[in-house]
Amino acid sequence: MTDAFLPTAPVGSLPKPSWLAEPETLWSPWKLEGEELAEGKQDALRSAVHEQHRRGIDVVSDGEQTRQHFVTTFIERLTGVDFERRETVRIRDRYDASVPTVVGAVSREKPVFVEDAKFLRAQTDQPIKWALPGPMTMIDTLSDRHYRSREKLAWEFATILNEEARELEAAGVDIIQFDEPAFNVFFDDVQDWGVATLERAAEGLRAETAVHICYGYGITANTAWKATLGSEWRQYEASFPLLQRSTLDIVSLECHHSRVPMDLIELIRGKKVMLGAIDVASHAVETPEEVADTLRAALEFVDADKLLPSTNCGMAPLPRGVALEKLSALKAGADIVRAELAAVRS
Ligand SMILES: [Zn+2]
Repeated sequence: MTDAFLPTAPVGSLPKPSWLAEPETLWSPWKLEGEELAEGKQDALRSAVHEQHRRGIDVVSDGEQTRQHFVTTFIERLTGVDFERRETVRIRDRYDASVPTVVGAVSREKPVFVEDAKFLRAQTDQPIKWALPGPMTMIDTLSDRHYRSREKLAWEFATILNEEARELEAAGVDIIQFDEPAFNVFFDDVQDWGVATLERAAEGLRAETAVHICYGYGITANTAWKATLGSEWRQYEASFPLLQRSTLDIVSLECHHSRVPMDLIELIRGKKVMLGAIDVASHAVETPEEVADTLRAALEFVDADKLLPSTNCGMAPLPRGVALEKLSALKAGADIVRAELAAVRS
């Protein structure tokens, strides 16, 4: 995938330029329309790639510059979903949001992100990663007036995601990542059909496949939820043993400044680990040494050739300058540990 040792691979989203969308806001409306919007999205994507290049990031993403939201933008492009009929639902059992409604059988009549992925592919020779929402997180981010079964709808979405993923792979995407923050909330569903539908979404792909499970963006509802989780966050204990036995190649998890006990990483031994060494809920930029400390601690539970230094989650809601500085910190921290490991080997 990449020749780099400890390849840095941020989770995904980066803040958009303020001329494109209101900063520090989820579901921020676009400030442009029509042709201007299409061109603006591409310029923002170019800029996101440029910043990742210049800050030494190894696995490059689109920064999710062409989508309004990591889940709803995908859902809105499907048939069977009425995005003008919006309903307020409780997301992740935590906060209310206005989301589109499933009103008939869902299908993907045309590719959603494939043209954007081709555009990203043309901007860089480095490995590229593309994020898609996972089936469980999709159903948790809409209102369903048709299937009225979370599991049934999850299998439908898994089939659709697999179609999209195969075309992303053909467009040159090296890693396809499924975002499943819902795995940290609905443990019975994870066990019953969550991992199975995720495997269906990833079926038959030659590209590497990743699942990102986190404690959410650094928004108030998530911060308040985290405060109720006690001194040790053991949510990963439910999904990791299942994922260790799954066909997924990479597990992306939140770690830095969270109360996740580091030894839970042992539960996914053998998988590649995208380790969150950057806190996305704080505006304080980590020092390289702080990043290195987190990586060193994780190396007790993951082999060095399977560790990908990463961020806890997407950075869309952060001030743009802070997010970019955090990319630099991630690279600088990885460099410290790379040098230490190289010294031990020689
Ligand atoms: Zn996340």
